[in-house]
Amino acid sequence: MKYIKYPGTDKMVSVVGFGGLRFDLDKTDEENAELVLYAYEKGINYFDTAPGYCDDRSEIILGVAFKKLIAQGKTDFFVSTKSKPKVCPSKELVIESVKKSIERLGVEKIDFYHVWCVRNMDHYELSMQKDGQYEGLVWCKENGLIDNICFSSHQPGNEVVDVLKSGNFTGVTMGINLLNFPYRWEGANYAYENGYGVVAMNPLSGGTIPNHEKELAFLAAPGETVTQAALRFNISTPEITVSLVGFSSNSDIEEACIIADSATSFTKEDLKIIEERFNGNSNSICTGCGYCRVCPKDINIPAYMLLYNEKHLFNKTDEEMIDMVYGLEYYNYTANTVGRANDCIECGKCEKECTQHLSIINRLKECSAWESKTTDHITV
Ligand code: SF4
Ligand code: SF4
Repeated sequence: MKYIKYPGTDKMVSVVGFGGLRFDLDKTDEENAELVLYAYEKGINYFDTAPGYCDDRSEIILGVAFKKLIAQGKTDFFVSTKSKPKVCPSKELVIESVKKSIERLGVEKIDFYHVWCVRNMDHYELSMQKDGQYEGLVWCKENGLIDNICFSSHQPGNEVVDVLKSGNFTGVTMGINLLNFPYRWEGANYAYENGYGVVAMNPLSGGTIPNHEKELAFLAAPGETVTQAALRFNISTPEITVSLVGFSSNSDIEEACIIADSATSFTKEDLKIIEERFNGNSNSICTGCGYCRVCPKDINIPAYMLLYNEKHLFNKTDEEMIDMVYGLEYYNYTANTVGRANDCIECGKCEKECTQHLSIINRLKECSAWESKTTDHITV
């Protein structure tokens, strides 16, 4: 495993981090903690979690593992967790949240505490209001409960730069991958050049990358799968300090460790070719994050937007898209909700929440046109 100094700190962090969002909820906390312990054994020392992840079990599972490590005198690992400005808008609430995370994780302090899910400047401003979340975090830092205040962002690169320029944070965690990197690259570059940490999440673009091995084959080096290429991109990119990977098995961990030890970075020329190949379209793909699930008409927006990715990224024809609407995959995506694309009343709530700032309403209109052209319109 390779280690790198998290900028602005004295902490040597592993270039691969453990993303605590993919635990198997059919397993016990003890069983899931074994995966965490295996990652530690393989040299991973950065563990990311949040209240609410995995039905609110992620912090608890990590806590089971950390308590075992600490009992063996092993304390050479770093913990990252978070709270949202909307959930902890006051000093008191965030202090309570930090203390709860510390208790569940079984650690003395949080190494990297994030203002979570900053999707626009309003969220940032909310965290900074008087007697609000940020002031509470400063109090926690002064009182030894946290070491570094960071933020996790779903903003475009220029807004990430604006928040970093405030000087209020040690680093940023954001979704960066081989498909969407142009969207946030300005932020990652600024952070890299100005001494801020960058933790990258979502290396496989919400499953879009492994689901399109054929279409994306040009991204991979000879003998490499597209998924491996995507992990290599995040892990070996100098602008990224830590690459979070959501592991499901020991072999996932081994694969990421091999990539960390041996990977060569994509060159600037490689990245230019990728950008050109997508003709700018990779800036605006749906990541499947689900923050837009606020629809009063119960439309499964992520399902439709993931469907739309197919047209947007791979230039599928309308006929191909109509065929896909019939496809089992998309039927399953949308089967549990009542609303259809043409039920949209254009209230705009989803677009306000979208982490990628997508034109959801317009895209739904196209999806609706495809659905209407099927003679066997899907009903639930
Ligand atoms: S704009 Fe349409 S899809 Fe978005 S929340 Fe409103 S009704 Fe739902
Ligand atoms: S439409 Fe936007 S908010 Fe919804 S899943 Fe896609 S990227 Fe996330």
